[in-house]
Amino acid sequence: MTTQMHAALVTGFGKPLEFRQMAIPTPGPGQILVKTEACGVCHTDLHAARGDWPVKPVPPFIPGHEGIGRVVALGAGVTRVKEGDRVGVPWLYSACGHCEHCLSAWETVCGEAEFGGYTKNGGFAEYILADPNYVAHVPPGLSPQQAAPLICAGVTTYKGLKVTDAKPGDWVLVSGAGGLGHLAIQYAKAMGFQVCAVDIDDEKLTHATALGADLVVNAKSEDAIEAVRNGTDGGAHGVLITAPSLTAFHQGIAMTRKRGTCALVGLPAGEFPVPLFDVVANCITIRGSFVGTRQDMAEALAFAADGKVKANVELQPLSAINEVFDRLEHGKVAARVVLDFEGDAR
Ligand code: NAD
Ligand code: ZN
Ligand code: ZN
Repeated sequence: MTTQMHAALVTGFGKPLEFRQMAIPTPGPGQILVKTEACGVCHTDLHAARGDWPVKPVPPFIPGHEGIGRVVALGAGVTRVKEGDRVGVPWLYSACGHCEHCLSAWETVCGEAEFGGYTKNGGFAEYILADPNYVAHVPPGLSPQQAAPLICAGVTTYKGLKVTDAKPGDWVLVSGAGGLGHLAIQYAKAMGFQVCAVDIDDEKLTHATALGADLVVNAKSEDAIEAVRNGTDGGAHGVLITAPSLTAFHQGIAMTRKRGTCALVGLPAGEFPVPLFDVVANCITIRGSFVGTRQDMAEALAFAADGKVKANVELQPLSAINEVFDRLEHGKVAARVVLDFEGDAR
């Protein structure tokens, strides 16, 4: 067996990723080794590589939190998975399992959580070490390339829609119809909502319509807020902001119906002003939503296994990651790029 692997690393914030040959890691007690088949490229990887957020990863590190692969080795004491299982190594890499949040099935906000491709090396590499208690279990019938976007973009939007508390028949608005948003639209339709998609790119909106959006609005148009209010008869009951743009957050609050919920999911650096009078007088709930729990993950994958949700993926080799980052930054990715470790292109 070969002992070396290819990996792409962030060696300094804002620098192109560097390709290195590294030793394949050995799983310690309680760890597993996964041989990567595919890994999605999330806008979060871009934030990580730029050091956009207050809590920063420490270079050098391997990004990627949509890695799917087969378990090829088990550390001592591992019983939860077996060799050959197809698993995903998600953003929620591990949690403590016994704090108040873990005990209430909110492991996503555990204070001791580790994050894949951020505080732990991720999927932009041929092998990934993982915690068997937190990996996603990929249902049979889903290819690794198809499953990859679901373990971050899928679970995050599915959970975000749930926490808007919208009911079937209600309007939900998805702001940002990219990697996260194109899946959000499909989950929202499958959950029985009427869907309004908002983006600044007409091609994304054409795609949104093809995916079932009932109403699409270009946020660059001057009267986008008015268009949403008119088209939804007063604003959306649930709003999910996935766009990595502070303007989208500001607009999203104004697009929320009275007594509705605006769920914040996108993570552009910075802050945005909240129009207090409108939020108070209209009894609007603003809440954050961070990926999803392991139960949310199982549910999100089941939608896809049932054929109700399908990621639109563009396959690229690991060696193309810097071009992919550049395109993602400039809104030039149609939906989700997935790095394909099985194809010839590598
Ligand atoms: P993406 O680049 O694939 O998609 C972003 C979309 O937003 C694009 O279609 C773009 O055209 C659109 N957009 C840009 N500005 C806009 C505006 N002003 N109004 C409406 N649409 C606009 O990115 P992605 O992978 O979908 O990630 C989106 C964001 O979600 C990132 O900030 C990422 O870090 C964050 N994220 C958060 C979580 C979480 O758990 N909360 C999980 C994953 C990703
Ligand atoms: Zn992500
Ligand atoms: Zn915990």
